Amino acid sequence: MSSREKGARCITRGVTITCDIQSGATSFTVQPTTYKAKAYSAASEESPLASTTIARRDPTERDVQIEILFCGICHSDLHSVRNEWSEFMATNYPIVPGHEIVGRVTTVGSAVTKYKAGDLVAVGCMVDSDRSCPNCKRDLEQFCPNMTLTFNSLDKHLGGVTYGGYSESIVVDEHFVLRLPSNLNIAGVAPLLCAGITTYSPMRHWGVGKGKKVGVVGLGGLGHMAVKFGRAFGAHVAVFTTSPNKKEDAFRLGADEVVVTRNSDEMKKHAGSFDFIIDTVSANHDINAYINLLGVDGNLTLVGAPAEPLDVPAFSLIMGRRRLAGSAIGGIAETQEMLDFCGKHNVTADVEVIPIQKVNEAYERLWKSDVKYRFSIDMASLKSE
Ligand SMILES: [Zn+2]
Ligand SMILES: [Zn+2]
Repeated sequence: MSSREKGARCITRGVTITCDIQSGATSFTVQPTTYKAKAYSAASEESPLASTTIARRDPTERDVQIEILFCGICHSDLHSVRNEWSEFMATNYPIVPGHEIVGRVTTVGSAVTKYKAGDLVAVGCMVDSDRSCPNCKRDLEQFCPNMTLTFNSLDKHLGGVTYGGYSESIVVDEHFVLRLPSNLNIAGVAPLLCAGITTYSPMRHWGVGKGKKVGVVGLGGLGHMAVKFGRAFGAHVAVFTTSPNKKEDAFRLGADEVVVTRNSDEMKKHAGSFDFIIDTVSANHDINAYINLLGVDGNLTLVGAPAEPLDVPAFSLIMGRRRLAGSAIGGIAETQEMLDFCGKHNVTADVEVIPIQKVNEAYERLWKSDVKYRFSIDMASLKSE
């Protein structure tokens, strides 16, 4: 913007820049223009999600505007709506959750190079970061201290907080937009943006592949993706479950064996034999039972977050040079790699598609783990609101 004349006002690609001369100094006020978008939000931790209208910024130079086609329902949505993580991430109301977003590009800003109108794209858990810290420079935007989450984060453009994918559209900087493979069912692609990358990233990082024995603890939204990825990477996959009635499904998803954890003889048979175990369970449970199943240099990675601190005897790790690790989603480049991998290996989540009007019912069922294995909201249903 070159004009610095007194009172000059120019509107360019959705940004209003007002230039005033006050006391001899020039000040610039940047006020993005906005449009109204239909959405579903919760007004308080006791309120159900209900139809509303939110303001989205008009696309600026590097923005991509996306018509949302499907949005997965993640456990984080439920925790955030009910303010269950208030100690470390209090919820700002009203909240529009949703960070498993797939859609079609409707408009792009003048400086956007990667996308054009009509492209099938996706947005995951992040919509921005500072792009300059050491973590961003290593393509680990998920660990950026100034990362912007897709919902319930400070909105740098409009003030207030960011609104997620339970909406008819979203506007996102092109760097945080992913390209979709053309051959996949997009309802089942949506959960890849959180459940998928959360399991893919540590499995890739710790070298899961042919000749490796991999364990998956918990067969829910995350666990069922871990089984599919383990299979696609060519590893030998074992599912640990407390319920024998999940056996059939575990095999259908691609498990080579199923271990019922309540059966101590079955557990003993596997002592010291695993290269990698991914633990997706967020309820409190005994992780030592799994550490003892690791072989030398074996790795147990946590992607679920039990509320209570873990009690781990040092010798369980010392003997066998075992590692206990954690992992959170993945960077943008790795998320794109995961989507491309899914296109090549035909991997999607198992979903139950629902209209947005059933979202509160879906939350009740999710709370009881009554879904195989992820809800995916058909956002076309929002048009009738
Ligand atoms: Zn999530
Ligand atoms: Zn950064």
